[in-house]
Amino acid sequence: MAQKTVLIIYAHHSPKSFNAAAKDVAVQTLTAQGYKVIVSDLYAMNFHPTVSPADIKGNLKNPEHFLYAEEAYIGWKEDRLSDDIKAEHRKVAQADLIIFQFPLYWYSFPAIMKGWIERVLTRGFAYTLQNTYDNGLCKDKKALLSFTTGAPECKYEPDGINGDVNVMLWPLQNGVLHFCGFQVLAPQIFWGPARASPSDRAAMLESWQARLKGLLEEKKVAFASGKLFDLSLQAGFKLRPEVKEEYRSKSYGLTTGQHLGKPLPPDNQTKASSACDPSASAKHSQKKV
Ligand SMILES: Cc1cc2nc3c(=O)[nH]c(=O)nc-3n(C[C@H](O)[C@H](O)[C@H](O)COP(=O)(O)OP(=O)(O)OC[C@H]3O[C@@H](n4cnc5c(N)ncnc54)[C@H](O)[C@@H]3O)c2cc1C
Repeated sequence: MAQKTVLIIYAHHSPKSFNAAAKDVAVQTLTAQGYKVIVSDLYAMNFHPTVSPADIKGNLKNPEHFLYAEEAYIGWKEDRLSDDIKAEHRKVAQADLIIFQFPLYWYSFPAIMKGWIERVLTRGFAYTLQNTYDNGLCKDKKALLSFTTGAPECKYEPDGINGDVNVMLWPLQNGVLHFCGFQVLAPQIFWGPARASPSDRAAMLESWQARLKGLLEEKKVAFASGKLFDLSLQAGFKLRPEVKEEYRSKSYGLTTGQHLGKPLPPDNQTKASSACDPSASAKHSQKKV
């Protein structure tokens, strides 16, 4: 069997941090299993975190009014993107799985990692206007968010002061990863390592190590299949009427985002599930034909 490749996008300044320890456990465990592991250590690389005209070599299409998505798309098509973006593209192209390892900053990625996402998941390379979600250009790859928090888990429960972690994950996992087609694996969340006891921290790393041994075989987090939507501007890219009708009598919404005004399906973004897999929704597409 061909060797599989895991790319770790890592964002922490300190090699003594818990994030560094989680990254090191992943490198050691996956390498020992025979995977090729590549690490993009963003701070060590001094990765440039903001989009700019310098991302495109040569003439811009419209230097008077710089529009990044369009200029980067042309740059990608004409092989005129900057060398640092192209180097990351080559790593992503090889990867069967991408692990994003980071401390949670303001409910999101640290700025340097957000910059990697903005610059590397380029239109044309990761998605096009026609190729999004189920059909995104990264659909043959898996992706996983592995992050630490400052706050304990209880604050991120549906009745906790920080709000339901599933809501926080929706823009990151649906808006970034699923949008580009990635098969999203359940996140690895290290709750509040700075306040945990040394033995609890050791247990967190042991449990991550155990999970890494079967990571590439895990089921993915379920998102609503594109087949459930009317994918046209006229129909507004809305859920098909028969799907909405089916959900009228259900206790929960379809996903965290497509909640239909109902209670959120529990653990929708934190656990793998086949609840809204394309196979489970085949009957809807058949009805349409
Ligand atoms: C700008 C900013 C925004 C933030 N926003 C949020 C937010 O929105 N929500 C939120 O919850 N938090 C937030 N935080 C807090 C942040 O998420 C945490 O500080 C961070 O996740 C902790 O991870 P760390 O790797 O930096 O921990 P560290 O402080 O580096 O590590 C924690 C402990 O683990 C120990 N350790 C290191 N290596 C090992 C090892 N191998 N084995 C055992 N122990 C080890 C360290 O010595 C330390 O005692 C924010 C912080 C900042 C700076």
